[in-house]
Amino acid sequence: MEREDIEEKYKWDLSKIYHDPQDFYKDIDTCQSLLDQLATFEGKLSENIETFIDFLTKKDDLSKLINKAYCFAHLHCDVEPKNQDYQKMMATALSLLQQASVTLVYVDNEICKNDVKIKEFLKDNRLASYRYTVNNLLAYKPHLLDEQQEMLIAKVDNISDISEQVFDSLRLEFEDVEVNGQKKTLNQATLTEFLKNKDVNVRKDAYHKFFKEYKKFENTYATTLAGVMKKDAFYSDVRHFDSPLEASVFNDDVPSSLFFKILDKANNEYRYLFHRYNQLKKELLKIDDFYNYDLNIPLVKNVSQKLTIEQCFEIIEKALAPFGQDYLNIIHQAKEERWIDYYPTTGKRQGAYSSGSYLTQPYILMNFIGDYNSMSTLIHELGHSVHTYLSNHNQEFINSHYRIFVAEVASTVNETLLINYMMEHAKTSEEKRYYIYEQLENCVGLIFRQPMFADFEHRLHTMAQNNEPMSSKIITDLYAKLSQEYFGDAVKMDELVGWSCYYVPHFYYDYYVYKYTLGMTVALAIVKRILQGDQKQIEQYLNFLKSGGKESPVDLLTHAGVNPLDDAIYDDAFHYFEDLLNEFEKLSK
Ligand SMILES: [Zn+2]
Repeated sequence: MEREDIEEKYKWDLSKIYHDPQDFYKDIDTCQSLLDQLATFEGKLSENIETFIDFLTKKDDLSKLINKAYCFAHLHCDVEPKNQDYQKMMATALSLLQQASVTLVYVDNEICKNDVKIKEFLKDNRLASYRYTVNNLLAYKPHLLDEQQEMLIAKVDNISDISEQVFDSLRLEFEDVEVNGQKKTLNQATLTEFLKNKDVNVRKDAYHKFFKEYKKFENTYATTLAGVMKKDAFYSDVRHFDSPLEASVFNDDVPSSLFFKILDKANNEYRYLFHRYNQLKKELLKIDDFYNYDLNIPLVKNVSQKLTIEQCFEIIEKALAPFGQDYLNIIHQAKEERWIDYYPTTGKRQGAYSSGSYLTQPYILMNFIGDYNSMSTLIHELGHSVHTYLSNHNQEFINSHYRIFVAEVASTVNETLLINYMMEHAKTSEEKRYYIYEQLENCVGLIFRQPMFADFEHRLHTMAQNNEPMSSKIITDLYAKLSQEYFGDAVKMDELVGWSCYYVPHFYYDYYVYKYTLGMTVALAIVKRILQGDQKQIEQYLNFLKSGGKESPVDLLTHAGVNPLDDAIYDDAFHYFEDLLNEFEKLSK
């Protein structure tokens, strides 16, 4: 489909950001002048409080404008990549961002060096909204090095990413898989389809042809994986952190005990529920030799129907009704003011996102095809957009940005409310079973699978920190062992399971995966309480959406009524899974 064939109301309206493209360049000029002024503050930040306030205000003004300009350029480029005017704007915005980061490189160091004076300034109420951010920065002081060492580290930066770059650039080719006498292409995108096939030979063949290629290059993959772990261990060491984990959680402002709590709950205390689910799968599928490549066979036929955008909004509004009219008004606004670009068109970016800035609306890009998944993606992105909208309208700029850590809560709560609505309003028990099955699979991916990944990643990081050898044999043996424990006794491991770790890009993202689990766990706990009609929970949750990033993720969530260090939220989340499993079992027998 071409862009001009799509009705206006189904395309986003970016003219509200800049009506005239010339206004974009006017903002760029203003940014340039602000940046020149900001450069003159070097060496003067702690002179007196007025100078410090003046600096912070100008820096915020600059960030707001750059973000607005960048937002305009990147949204346009994502839907019309061939338009050279937008490409030029994008290049202009990016080069300004780069220039700003070079010009302002002195700031963090200067603030940390003058910490005593700055802490004195922070007592003044004019700086109240800056306290969280600046204190965070000051806490980094023990990890800053002297000027020469910092310079050396900066020079190492661009060689330290090479393992990851090599991993990204490796392109494997796979042999075709034969289905009903026809040869079909096997790759990352088609693997799952083969694994859903009813014929065991197809599943086994696809699995083998896929992972034997990883095995062929195992020494390369072992080197890139060990390389990224050694890189994290290096930075943690030179910056005086106790471990790579401590370095990573420092950036997120959460305690490492949170990481271990999530792993303990998922991998020890509640793992029996996942084993029970696998046992049930084996029974329902009636397969005696049940292998890990058999786990994707659908247990229920897809019953979802084609939906229009209007039908999706009707359902979404009903699913989100517990939040009250104010929340729904923002959803209306998103639709009426055209924040959303719905349909896939030639050249448009794949996937979906919510993206905006402090001075713009939070826009949504998606590739809507009218199935249940599309509706679920829409409500997910709307969750992000409402969160951003409420943060921007209730917080000053400096505190409006929220971290990845809490971001997925808003979207996952919405997705979960939707699927619960679909279960509740299913017309047949088969339809209900379908949605329960979908949600069980969802939960498995996020609350069981990711903590197993996190455990594996943590062990590799620890090996790197202790300078232990990390050959492919050691890595794949470890992964095979963890996989067997993870899937449980009902599932047999294929001989290639150990090499399947080389396929996962997330191991290169420095302790990222457990954040998915946290987002889902918190969301499930919130939904469980909302569905029980807990009005206080709804109120606390809406306040959380308005809080942006004004405090640490743990504080934000605690004020939302779901302290992530508290056992109760994990118990709520895993019991939610257990309830679903019980119901699914009942409907299946
Ligand atoms: Zn999301």
